[in-house]
Amino acid sequence: MSFTSQIKSELAQLEPKSHCCLRAECYGIWLFSKCFTLLDSAFITECAPAARKMLELAAVGAGASAQLTYAVSRRSRPAYRVSLPEGQERLRLLEAFGHTGREPCLRINRAVLENDCCQDAFLRGAFLTCGSATDPNKAYHLEFSALYQNLARDLYTLIGEVGNFRVSPALVRRNGSYGVYLKDGGQIEDLLTFLGATGASMELMQVRMYKEAKNNINRKSNFETANMDKTYSASARQTAAIAAISDSQGLESLPENLQALARLRLDNPDMTLRELSQRLGISRSGVNHRLQKLIELGEGIIMEKGINVLM
Ligand SMILES: [Zn+2]
Repeated sequence: MSFTSQIKSELAQLEPKSHCCLRAECYGIWLFSKCFTLLDSAFITECAPAARKMLELAAVGAGASAQLTYAVSRRSRPAYRVSLPEGQERLRLLEAFGHTGREPCLRINRAVLENDCCQDAFLRGAFLTCGSATDPNKAYHLEFSALYQNLARDLYTLIGEVGNFRVSPALVRRNGSYGVYLKDGGQIEDLLTFLGATGASMELMQVRMYKEAKNNINRKSNFETANMDKTYSASARQTAAIAAISDSQGLESLPENLQALARLRLDNPDMTLRELSQRLGISRSGVNHRLQKLIELGEGIIMEKGINVLM
């Protein structure tokens, strides 16, 4: 099941909290369905729960009886065709929400959404007919698609206003329609929760947490690689200095405490400061101090005798 179908099935199962919300959901589902007109037209969907919900809401929310028949979708899949074949049913539906069907352009009648409780129900209805969401494992994208520019603009404004979370949608013109979309994973999660699709919202949250953890691991391992490079280049300098001492005057010439460290470093170029200090049972600053001495001594010899000492 696609992520879109998963959200729609979840939304279609929800029962409106009160009659005003039921009407708002009916308004949303039909307004964005292409059937909200005096003309005889049909809405085709592959989503059975959405199709059933349209019929149910038209009857209970507007007293209009719609028709459901089998069809084939644009992707040649089994689908459902929802329509209002009778002119009087179409008019009844329009008038139930303060429309005449003769408006110069179709817009959201905010009077239907007067109560705050109705906003999520309206958007739930809208998503059932014109919404889609990409699988979060691939990308974060949730979109409402509207046939008319003004309708899309009204939806854009409404989505930006709802709930107590910050959503900043974008508006885009597509072939023959207008899209209102979100690209931010966190915002999509908030909107899905607001609509009542808590299962889908949880799934999205898990994907986001997984991606974040993976990014953190990558960042950490980059950091460790950088540190390893640093350890390695410091160690190369120390080893070169110790080798110069060993070649010119021999490590035996060194005081005992420097000698032990010099041999240990020469045998273990990749040991960290911490490991050296643990091995010798002295503090890290002690090790550092002794290494500085060895470098001074060794680099002094290199400067004096030239680079040939190392070759
Ligand atoms: Zn309500």
